[in-house]
Amino acid sequence: MNKKEKKLAQIAEEVAHCQKCPLYKIAVKSVPGQGSAEARLFFIGEAPGYYEDQSGVPFCGRAGKLLDKMLIIAGLKREDVFIGNMLKHRPPGNRDPRPEEIIACRPFLNRQIAVVSPEIIVTLGRFAMNEFLPEAKISQVHGQFRFVDYNNKEYILFPVYHPAAALRNGNLRETEEEDFKKLKQFLLKLSQTTSAVKKELVSKDDKEKQMSLL
Ligand code: URA
Repeated sequence: MNKKEKKLAQIAEEVAHCQKCPLYKIAVKSVPGQGSAEARLFFIGEAPGYYEDQSGVPFCGRAGKLLDKMLIIAGLKREDVFIGNMLKHRPPGNRDPRPEEIIACRPFLNRQIAVVSPEIIVTLGRFAMNEFLPEAKISQVHGQFRFVDYNNKEYILFPVYHPAAALRNGNLRETEEEDFKKLKQFLLKLSQTTSAVKKELVSKDDKEKQMSLL
C-alpha cells in the first residue's frame, strides 16, 4: 500500500467505528467508498442502499449497474475512479439523508477528497451537488462543468442526475447518457489542454465561472 492508500484505509477504519450519528446502529456494514487513490475523477453519491449495506461496496445495486454503464459511456473504468457517498451508513428504508447526518459524515468525505486530490468531482444527484452548490437546482446545472472551491482547493465540478433517478425516468436516462458523453469529450479536451490554457479559458468566462471548454 502506498501512502495515499494507507490514508484511505485509515479513514475507512474510522468510518467502520463511527458513532457520530445513529445510522450505525441499524447498518449491516459501513460503505466508506472504493476506488483508486490516484483517481482523477471522484464520484459522490447520496448514501448506501440495501445491497451496499449488505456488501460494504458503493453502487453495487441497480443504480450501481447503471452507473457502470455510464462509466463505460464516458470511457472510464470503475477501478480508475473513486466512488464515495455523502453518508457512509444506510438510512433506514433509503430515506433522504438528514442535515445532521450530512454534517456528521462530512469530515470523512472532506478527508477522502483531500487524499485522492482529484481533478474532477462528479456529483450524482442533488444531495452531493448541494455540498458544492448549495443553492443550485440539478435540472439547471446537470451536465455543466465549473470550477468550485472546496476546503481551499479548486476542483472541476460536474453535477449529473442520480442513476436511481435515471432508472425511474426514461427521459432522465437519456439525459444521463448525454451528460456522460459530454464527460468523455471533456476528458479528451482536457488531455489536450495545458493548465495555463485551462485557466485562461475559465477566467475569460462569466461570473458563474462556468467552463466554456465544450
Ligand atoms: N445510491 C447511492 O447514492 N449510493 C450508493 O452507494 C448506492 C446507491
